[in-house]
Amino acid sequence: MAGPEPALPKVPEATRSPLWLGAMLLAAAVLAAFWFVGQLSSFGESLEHRHGVAVVSTAAALLDAGEIAALRGDASDAGTPVHEAVRSRLIAVRSANPEFRFVYLMRPQAPGSDRFVFLADAEDPGSPDYSAPGDVYDGPSGYLRQTASTGDPQFSEAIEDQWGTWVSALTPIHHDGRLVAVLGVDIAHQEWLDAQARYRGMGLVISALVLSLIALFLVGLQLQRRAGNRLSALGHQLADRLHELDRAQEGLRLADVVVRHTSEAIMVLDPQMRIRRVNPAYEKLTGRREADVLGGMPPAFRHDPALHKRVMAAVSAGDHWQEEVWATRDDGSRYPVGALAEVVRDDDGRIEHFIVVLQDLSTQKEIEDRLRELSATDGLTRIPNRRAFDDGLAREWERGIRQQSQLSVIMADIDFFKRYNDQYGHVAGDTCLQQVAAALKAGIRQGGDLVARYGGEEFAVILPGADPAAARAVAEALRRRVEELALPHDGNDAVGVVTISLGVATVTPSHDAAPTTLVEKADQQLYRAKAGGRNRVEG
Ligand code: GH3
Ligand code: MG
Ligand code: MG
Repeated sequence: MAGPEPALPKVPEATRSPLWLGAMLLAAAVLAAFWFVGQLSSFGESLEHRHGVAVVSTAAALLDAGEIAALRGDASDAGTPVHEAVRSRLIAVRSANPEFRFVYLMRPQAPGSDRFVFLADAEDPGSPDYSAPGDVYDGPSGYLRQTASTGDPQFSEAIEDQWGTWVSALTPIHHDGRLVAVLGVDIAHQEWLDAQARYRGMGLVISALVLSLIALFLVGLQLQRRAGNRLSALGHQLADRLHELDRAQEGLRLADVVVRHTSEAIMVLDPQMRIRRVNPAYEKLTGRREADVLGGMPPAFRHDPALHKRVMAAVSAGDHWQEEVWATRDDGSRYPVGALAEVVRDDDGRIEHFIVVLQDLSTQKEIEDRLRELSATDGLTRIPNRRAFDDGLAREWERGIRQQSQLSVIMADIDFFKRYNDQYGHVAGDTCLQQVAAALKAGIRQGGDLVARYGGEEFAVILPGADPAAARAVAEALRRRVEELALPHDGNDAVGVVTISLGVATVTPSHDAAPTTLVEKADQQLYRAKAGGRNRVEG
């Protein structure tokens, strides 16, 4: 079943806290990066300082202090072998360290003086930057003085003089315990700044790398968390679906059990009203096997297209149809069923199935018929009672009107029955009534005619279509039958057996008269028969 992809549940509030943690971690990492860049810059600076100091100290150690002491410190040194020797060493120092722009020796003009003069310079004498022996240095001399006075190497801050802006490494040179010169190397301030910038740059690159790694890590962590949340949400949804499926399956199983074991026959039809499934009760009720009906229309619809139409009209109007119908088995036998159809629709309202439930009404109908029969039958004589007579007469009256046919009624009454009871007792009287009833019943045409116990020892006969002569003939035959029963009846003076008197009446029914008029007429004739001596027919 392909449903729409389920919407993912929102990320719960609790899982957002790692976002804050991540942001704080990133902020801390940025601060640490600043600190690190600062640290690396100052470390680089001190490293460069120490490097400058180390190089200048090493160079100083390699110089010949004696030679330097021999320099006079004025223009007369120029060109002397000693001066050239000292200068060549300075040139060697500079060529070994290309970052040193100037390498030179200075000396206080007089011991303890603040003014310094050049002793020797590695710069080419032809260069405008060259400082000849004895030239007075006119730039700031604080670091020079400090070097001279403390005897320790120094590394200056940026110094600006006529040649530019520099940082300088300075170291004193002593000979025989006295200061003979200060060796200075100058590095262009821009180069120095560039070197510092390289450290800072390196720090920035490392920090950026670390920050990127942290950011990547956090992003990865967040993605993983989201994926985890999504996965766990999907897991929950899956568990819910499985649970629903379990319940649905349980429901289906129960429904199947109910369908299989219910006593009502069930058919499941597709939208084209073809049978998709039937249950065992259906097979039992109809006598048809599931395999024989699957894929076909319900046989009742084939036999009765009007029924099919009625069902379709009802279900398309209101999704529900209910009717009592007569179904036919393959052997032709008919049986009553209470049928009910319901429509099952899908979510879009399209018809998915029809469910037809059939309930066997045979037993119910039998009971109803039996009850109807009982209510229409006289308990003593087992022939129709007064009510059945009235119904039958009304029915035949209507038919007489429709068909313009004659209708006859015979009223019959046992002669001197009071005496019979008196002489033989009531039980014998009842038996007598039963025998007379049976004789009368046997004396009429079965099917169309009807004999009923009208009341007491009085009987009534309906003869549809009988004219007066035919009716009289029937009445006479009935009279004879009773007489021929030869039931002893001493009180019936003339014959000594049970006899009846009969009155006959015939009319052609019409709307102008009531059926009771026919009974009244027959009753009058009966009265005449009694008055005329009994055991006779009048009318
Ligand atoms: P007649 O020839 O004029 O009809 O005389 P009769 O005695 O038959 O007339 P009546 O109507 O006076 O008496 C009818 C009697 O029928 C009275 C009653 O005891 C008897 N009877 C009516 N119903 C029953 C019954 O169900 N069982 C028995 N045993 N007797 C009944
Ligand atoms: Mg009577
Ligand atoms: Mg009587």
